[in-house]
Amino acid sequence: MSTITPTQEQDVVQRVPKGLFIGGEWRDATGGATLAVEDPSTGEALCEVADATVEDASAALDAACAAQAEWAATAPRERGEILRRAWERLVERQDELALLMTLEMGKPVAESRAEIAYAGEFLRWFAEEAVRIEGRWATAPNGGMRMLTMRQPVGPCLLITPWNFPMAMGTRKIGPAVAAGCTMVVKPAKQTPLSMLALAQILEEAGLPGGVLNVFTSRSASKTTGPLIDDPRLRKLSFTGSTEVGRQLMGQASKNLLRVSMELGGNAPFLVFEDADLDAAVEGAMVAKMRNIGEACTAANRFHVHASVADEFARRLAERMGALKSGRGSEDGVEVGPLIDDDQRGKVRELVEDALERGARRLTDGAESDGRGYFYPPTVLTDVPQDARMLREEIFGPVAPIAAFADEDEAIAAANRTEFGLVAYVFTQSLDRAIRVIEQLETGMVGLNQGLVSNAAAPFGGVKQSGFGREGGAEGIDEYLSVKYAAIKA
Ligand code: ADP
Repeated sequence: MSTITPTQEQDVVQRVPKGLFIGGEWRDATGGATLAVEDPSTGEALCEVADATVEDASAALDAACAAQAEWAATAPRERGEILRRAWERLVERQDELALLMTLEMGKPVAESRAEIAYAGEFLRWFAEEAVRIEGRWATAPNGGMRMLTMRQPVGPCLLITPWNFPMAMGTRKIGPAVAAGCTMVVKPAKQTPLSMLALAQILEEAGLPGGVLNVFTSRSASKTTGPLIDDPRLRKLSFTGSTEVGRQLMGQASKNLLRVSMELGGNAPFLVFEDADLDAAVEGAMVAKMRNIGEACTAANRFHVHASVADEFARRLAERMGALKSGRGSEDGVEVGPLIDDDQRGKVRELVEDALERGARRLTDGAESDGRGYFYPPTVLTDVPQDARMLREEIFGPVAPIAAFADEDEAIAAANRTEFGLVAYVFTQSLDRAIRVIEQLETGMVGLNQGLVSNAAAPFGGVKQSGFGREGGAEGIDEYLSVKYAAIKA
């Protein structure tokens, strides 16, 4: 890609609508309040977007409820074709949307491009699923009646998305909701509202009727979403974010017994056995650790490596991580962007200091730049002791802690020694071992000899405190459908 100019940066920001999208109209927040969106690579404001009030949030739910019956009755093919057109537009506008995402979130443009493609795949996948919402017809075992089973849209949904994948975390909720015939209110994270606003505009252009998708941006997530969760008209809550907030939302959702999907935190183990292809393991580690600057719930959070190859693996990983080029994501050749904000950088720094105090050794340079932006250097730590906080807590940054294990049982025990259970990575060339280990891991997903599991055609999700519900795959649409059964006299 050719060098991106400041004018191009300003243009993409300028073109995005900055208002609330409610009932098919773009408008300002009641009272006209706004909130600033910051570029994490400079700490400077990019623009202002509407800061919704409680009344605005409630208007968004009103619009979703008003549109629900007609939308549920729309032909499945029509719903699918809207998603398909939106996918095509997303792909056409990939460069511009990628730059926009990089500016608000920080990741290198190449990674933003990959996210736009990934985000688009959910629209494409669910365009195909919209026409495959099927039921069953059966005769009761005693022959006394017929049993008709159908799947219907759950109804108006609230979709809350995080800042780390500002577009893909949206499409994997919006795609199935649209396909299933649900209407929705979406609240993106305040750090990265622009990608979601651009997506709303694309869905509008693709022909989504007014009121089906409503988006509001707000400084205060709990104040604006709380009353919606309490509203008996809402039927479903889908949340991607931290386990802490997920727990809180689960509590709130119990009041109306909402259908709930939760994609929460992770603490992914990355297991390298003595029979692994070490080249593939280092390559997989780079992807599993450094994708999204380590700010992913699927990020490899701790590396458990067999003692016979631990030093070699650590040396090679440190060499690769230490050579990465950091900088603004829109600059040529940059491989690592800034973290999202100073709080996040502070947390990462604290976890590294804790590990070093407990006896870990740093294999990379470690010098933090004192310039602007929330940069943290890619860091590899070895001999990380079991009591180090970073082996238990989600790092969400470019830091790879390595600990050695002696045998397979110890590796599995270490991998499962966490409250989280989203994903695990396993590197081995033994088929027997691979099957044994995959079956014993307490996670919703496993990457075998590869560092990336995400795919729109696969069911993404966790167990334990990583949440429940699946996004993508054949399972993804089930979260937005309820089963109805009719007993028919015959
Ligand atoms: P992170 O730690 O990745 O920022 P959060 O869980 O804090 O994740 O945020 C994920 C999403 O949840 C964001 O859209 C955020 O605004 C929203 N959020 C945070 N706290 C609450 C809350 N109490 N009620 C509703 N939404 C919330």
